[in-house]
Amino acid sequence: MKSLAGLSAVSAAGTGLGVAAPSTSSLPDSRQRERVNALLLSATTVPGQPSLSQAWEALPELYGENKQVLLINFASLPPDRDAYAKRMQREFDKMGDGFTISSLHHAKPRDAARVVREAEAFFISGGNTFLLLRELYDRFVVDLIRERVLMGVPYAGSSAGSNVAGTVIGCTNDFPLVDVPTRRSLGILPGVFNPHHPDPELDPGNFEHRQWKISHYASHQRHEPVFGITDPGMIRIQGNRFTLLGKAAWGYLRQGDQQVDLFSEDNRDLTAAMEQVG
Ligand code: ASP
Repeated sequence: MKSLAGLSAVSAAGTGLGVAAPSTSSLPDSRQRERVNALLLSATTVPGQPSLSQAWEALPELYGENKQVLLINFASLPPDRDAYAKRMQREFDKMGDGFTISSLHHAKPRDAARVVREAEAFFISGGNTFLLLRELYDRFVVDLIRERVLMGVPYAGSSAGSNVAGTVIGCTNDFPLVDVPTRRSLGILPGVFNPHHPDPELDPGNFEHRQWKISHYASHQRHEPVFGITDPGMIRIQGNRFTLLGKAAWGYLRQGDQQVDLFSEDNRDLTAAMEQVG
């Protein structure tokens, strides 16, 4: 299904395989992203804080008048999805804004496209990124979610849900629990997301290791900017404006050999950093 005219096809060279990626892999350009209204959380729960509390201001601002939120929790294992959906309703209740959560996992797979088409807002939660992307492809809703978000339907993602907002799930920390038809994902974020990046001051050993892995990835996939973001961090996307939110959130943007450090307390505006590495 490809319903947005003129979506740019991903070049075969970009796959690194020398073969054309499946037709599901079309990615939007900056003009097509002008209406994107998204918030990409690194984590649902920042250690030591109530779940989603880092986003208690940003989520109501993102959703505005859209109080009926469609939860997509396919990153959770199937037996956990009912409990997870109930828990998310409780977490959203804490914001006191009258949000109602319905969960796509309650719909029959053949009805998934209709439910996505009718949704007024999305929350895509974390778990295993491969499982999430696979189940989205199985239900033929990847292009549809992208299309709705490009039309301005609010999208919040957390962890795996932020990974699939990128162009590919290239820097997930997850094991490939299942195979995916392609690593290509939504492309709402013009880059690759790496959540739960260790903080250089709080966890220097793991920080070095993660940075080393990402630098290897970036040296092979030189056309893909990678955002490594610590747990308090969130990327706010408003069209082609990108901002790092979250108290003391740290991160960086890496492309090829170029790296720009990001810290939410000072250089929040990621747009300049993206121009610098691009
Ligand atoms: N497993 C993570 C999550 O919580 C995703 C990741 O680390 O890449 O969704």
